[in-house]
Amino acid sequence: MNIDIIGAGIGGLTTAIALEKKGIKTRVFEQAEQIKPVGAGIILANNAMQVYEKLGLRKIIEENGNPISSMNITKSNLKPLSRIDLSYFERRHNIKNIAIHRGKLQQILINRLKPTKIELNHKLTSIEKNTNDYSLKFENGNQIQSSIILGADGLNSIVRQNILPNNSIRNANQICWRGVTECELPIKFRNELNEAWGKSERFGFVQIAENKVYWYALKSFKKNKNEFSLNNLEQYFADYNSVIKDIIKSTKKEQINTAEISDLKPTSIWYKENVGLIGDSAHATTPNMGQGACQAIEDAFVLSECLNKYEITKAFSEYQKLRLPKAHQVVKASWLVGKMAHFKNPLLIGFRNQMLRLVPSSVNRKQNEQIFQLAEI
Ligand SMILES: Cc1cc2nc3c(=O)[nH]c(=O)nc-3n(C[C@H](O)[C@H](O)[C@H](O)COP(=O)(O)OP(=O)(O)OC[C@H]3O[C@@H](n4cnc5c(N)ncnc54)[C@H](O)[C@@H]3O)c2cc1C
Repeated sequence: MNIDIIGAGIGGLTTAIALEKKGIKTRVFEQAEQIKPVGAGIILANNAMQVYEKLGLRKIIEENGNPISSMNITKSNLKPLSRIDLSYFERRHNIKNIAIHRGKLQQILINRLKPTKIELNHKLTSIEKNTNDYSLKFENGNQIQSSIILGADGLNSIVRQNILPNNSIRNANQICWRGVTECELPIKFRNELNEAWGKSERFGFVQIAENKVYWYALKSFKKNKNEFSLNNLEQYFADYNSVIKDIIKSTKKEQINTAEISDLKPTSIWYKENVGLIGDSAHATTPNMGQGACQAIEDAFVLSECLNKYEITKAFSEYQKLRLPKAHQVVKASWLVGKMAHFKNPLLIGFRNQMLRLVPSSVNRKQNEQIFQLAEI
């Protein structure tokens, strides 16, 4: 079996590694001319790290990242509102949750993939179905024949547009700034993700390595992201705890990424004949649960098991059956969390904060229990 993967993001690379491990040959096509390290961090939750353990990558990821033992929601002054204790899941699965620089993770995945060639500067433009296979056309003029295609080409997936033209991308009306700064957090914050919720904005930060802190900041807009300027970032978070203000101040402006937050309205189909979707191309989510890449990594594991076990149609249908409910649960919950986090009305904010304080830790644990549990195949 030969499989062509479109997109060398976390989903595409992890899938190629998982398939290689099963002895299935892949080719990976990536639109970028060069894979540049993204200047941001990522949290690899327990479910993603369980997959990387199976792929033999756990140790190297742990060595290059920082373990996180709790995820906290706080007020803007960093007073706690809710806490998810990750150490319980660490013990249960014998796996840590790791925060890591995205550039480091990309490099680890690329290094592991050495036998598979990543064809850079290959932006897929169209897929044509022939009697026995498909013709893939790329912007650089190249054309290849393919028998099985996996779209790992992200939110605006060309592969998805080919097989599911009627899906819709939803704009969350939130701008997001992300950065990495060279500093050491106060000791009590070193092994935690903290996300401070204010009034229609929030700020998250986490240590990703020695002397490296990843942070993200979001703000709601009415029409578009141009309502806000990076130059005013310090001003938007002027009422926040001094740890947050220091993080913003210490980050070089030219290294801050700005993006709008969107997701994919849940779709009921992830494949058509020999063309399948994984990661954001199938179920892009808002980042509010820190699960987008983790879900892509789970796809990689489940799909590689299914492709190893079944013929192609059954493999895609089993993969969809095993993965779709959980991925959609994340998309829906994440969308709601994003709305709740940005309440503007003081009464609603007060009610929300009270509710967050009152939710018993056993309820938080139960919700995460489902998310961190891998499918059994
Ligand atoms: C602010 C923010 C914070 C986040 N934090 C977390 C987190 O802490 N934990 C977590 O698990 N997730 C997080 N996510 C989500 C995570 O980044 C994504 O879910 C994940 O990167 C999806 O991986 P992917 O490989 O499916 O898609 P992508 O990362 O989008 O990769 C797609 C790849 O395909 C390539 N491509 C696109 N079109 C074509 C084409 N036509 N031809 C060839 N190549 C193409 C692209 O260049 C890219 O390399 C966050 C997202 C955001 C926005």
